[in-house]
Amino acid sequence: MGTKGREIVGERADEVIDLLNRALADEWLAYYQYWIGSKIVVGPMKGEVMAELMEHAADELRHADLLVARIMQLGGTPILRPEDWYKLTNCGYEVPNDPQVRKILAQNIKGEQCAINVYNKLLALTGDFDPITNEMVLGILTDEVEHEDDLQALVEDLENI
Ligand code: FE
Ligand code: FE
Ligand code: MG
Repeated sequence: MGTKGREIVGERADEVIDLLNRALADEWLAYYQYWIGSKIVVGPMKGEVMAELMEHAADELRHADLLVARIMQLGGTPILRPEDWYKLTNCGYEVPNDPQVRKILAQNIKGEQCAINVYNKLLALTGDFDPITNEMVLGILTDEVEHEDDLQALVEDLENI
């Protein structure tokens, strides 16, 4: 899309692009957190947890796709260097040193709660001037809420074993 057709411009666009890139950093780290977690997790209900983690990893990668598409539509440049994931992330990355299922789930729940917070803020910010980003963010936020719910349900199941 050329500059002339762009629906938001100037500082507002730059601010949105920056926040979308920060969210992109989060999504990549969340993707890896889930992906590596699914490989190393041990303990009760391992199979079920592994399947859920892999599903969520795929969702986070899809979120990264959506963010990059919107960043480029707004005339921005998506993160090109992996070292910038750590510089820009809101939610960080928790090293899964302990592969026990409860620990892995707790780390991912913390990540989802952070993501929900990030996307809620982005939703509020874009509400009055950027309906396209706003709608995309709402879709991602809906997924993150479902992710947290799914993980909490697994924790409950584990408690009832
Ligand atoms: Fe996500
Ligand atoms: Fe998520
Ligand atoms: Mg799920």
